[in-house]
Amino acid sequence: MSTDYEIKEGAVADPGTSTRNRTGGWRVEFPAFDEEGCTLCDLCWEVCPDVAIERGEDVYSADLDYCKGCGVCAQVCPTDAIEMEREEK
Ligand code: SF4
Ligand code: SF4
Repeated sequence: MSTDYEIKEGAVADPGTSTRNRTGGWRVEFPAFDEEGCTLCDLCWEVCPDVAIERGEDVYSADLDYCKGCGVCAQVCPTDAIEMEREEK
């Protein structure tokens, strides 16, 4: 495979641009975390495509500036401790 290529217009080429691109504006649902049901297993944190999950000592939460509401975290949670709820806008 050749590594001799030209970056096309529109590519993300500047390191750090993903942190400036707040994807939370796309969201129609958000993940609600149930502190009681969470075993702190980290699975949701590992799969979140936007690195939006924040790990607290006893409970996790989503940074809504970056969470785009895809629901992957809720799907993988082994204890159903995440429920996707509709945004009120
Ligand atoms: S996947 Fe579920 S149980 Fe595991 S840390 Fe996330 S919320 Fe908690
Ligand atoms: S809904 Fe998607 S973007 Fe939001 S915290 Fe869960 S996995 Fe991340």
